[in-house]
Amino acid sequence: MPRDYDVIVIGAGAAGLSAAVAAADTGARVLVVEGDTQVGGSSRLSGGHFYAAGTSVQAQAGVYGDTADAMFEHYMTLNQWLVDPAVVRRYCDLSAPTFEWLQALGVKFPAQGVYPSGVGSIPRGHQPEGSGEAVVQVLDGHRSHKGVDLVLQSRVTGLITDADGQVTGLQIGEDSANCAAVIMATGGFGANADMLKTYYPDAAASGDWGWYIGSAGAQGDGIALGQRVGATLAGHNRGLLLVTPGFSRDLEVLLPNWLILVNQAGRRFADESAPYTVLGGLITHQQSAVFAVFDEQARRDAKPNSMSQAYWVADVLARKAEEGVIHRANTLADLAASAGVDPRGLQGTVARYNFDAQNGADSAFFKSGGLQSISEPPFYAVEVRPAIVCWTGTGLRIDADTRVLGEDEKPIAGLYAAGETVGNLHGDRYVGGGGSFGPCIVFGKLAGEQAAHFAAALNN
Ligand SMILES: Cc1cc2nc3c(=O)[nH]c(=O)nc-3n(C[C@H](O)[C@H](O)[C@H](O)COP(=O)(O)OP(=O)(O)OC[C@H]3O[C@@H](n4cnc5c(N)ncnc54)[C@H](O)[C@@H]3O)c2cc1C
Repeated sequence: MPRDYDVIVIGAGAAGLSAAVAAADTGARVLVVEGDTQVGGSSRLSGGHFYAAGTSVQAQAGVYGDTADAMFEHYMTLNQWLVDPAVVRRYCDLSAPTFEWLQALGVKFPAQGVYPSGVGSIPRGHQPEGSGEAVVQVLDGHRSHKGVDLVLQSRVTGLITDADGQVTGLQIGEDSANCAAVIMATGGFGANADMLKTYYPDAAASGDWGWYIGSAGAQGDGIALGQRVGATLAGHNRGLLLVTPGFSRDLEVLLPNWLILVNQAGRRFADESAPYTVLGGLITHQQSAVFAVFDEQARRDAKPNSMSQAYWVADVLARKAEEGVIHRANTLADLAASAGVDPRGLQGTVARYNFDAQNGADSAFFKSGGLQSISEPPFYAVEVRPAIVCWTGTGLRIDADTRVLGEDEKPIAGLYAAGETVGNLHGDRYVGGGGSFGPCIVFGKLAGEQAAHFAAALNN
């Protein structure tokens, strides 16, 4: 039976569009099926940062000698080797060549946009001009120019397999299309509360404080569709959570550095200006409520800053204290009692912190800025939680060639996956800004090439 297409890509985000362009370049007839009314998914809303080692733009920025080997070692060590080394290795090896491919397609990455985006001093984050939206536009332009068909408002409801379990097409409600290979690029499941409960309990634990910053299409369809044809999953309870006092649904990446964080023992446990990639995990690790503590002077001086700390400002903090959302008391002992924190612990912690502030050095956690004594009543304590879901990490297990792995540990013939729907790339700690978008492009392009080769072999 003639096939409708060689390759059908499900999802038109960064991963799907990269896959479509690469598959077309490899000679395949390609269709992209997108459930939304427009292309882009969460990628369109994203910063579009790309985490890569050994790029030409790093060199322009004066960062020389960075390598895939160094990136791999850092990635594995950060995650205590609890990630899939073959998949991570492929990402590291292909990060620079794929980054150059994306540049050659027309995405601009200025040298001043290169920065250390995670835990580590080597600048591997690359910020594109025009953020994720510009990347999506460039990729979609190439998709269109290469004659890749696109259907919008068409949510895929099932995969079709033959008697051997090979994926041979897909269904969109009553309609179906057949092809040699399907690429799953459906993104994550941040917008699906049930899936968060099942696959990302740390996110669900924040209760109604939790919200997802991405697109409504992030329903985890890749997981559901894949499992129905025998795909295996990986990456339980992984993703990225940002810390918030839950006042509103504005995206805030960092806490102000003029507060301290204490657990229920009243004890500090981290540099409060720790990278956002680790702060959420440090709070979860306390296994207790965590409070931001500050005094009247800090509240009075609180102003918005470049990290868009829109609600850590004087009048909002005063209002929230009036509303009872923020605990307020004239003594630390009363503040501790109100918040349910050990008073001796809190008093001792603040005494040590104030001593450090007077000496100008945080002897416990080496916080480099914002050190000011907590001494002017009233005192304030507000609970913060890692509750803002940025992306999710549970998903389909792939091999290093993006083939989806089945329960028999073999690739499911005809099924490939790329982007946030993949589950065996991320560990417990996010490697840094660009560590989700970068691999979407890397594995999207690779999946496109691999699926096109698979289709060509079937056609011959
Ligand atoms: C605001 C924001 C900022 C971010 N900033 C960064 C950053 O700077 N760096 C970084 O590394 N990461 C960042 N991330 C995360 C990163 O952008 C995402 O992980 C990445 O863009 C996901 O790309 P994707 O192609 O896998 O999925 P998406 O871009 O979400 O695309 C998936 C597409 O599949 C469609 N789809 C889903 N199911 C179906 C179905 N059944 N049938 C048809 N279509 C379907 C969806 O509608 C969607 O359009 C950010 C995320 C957000 C939301």
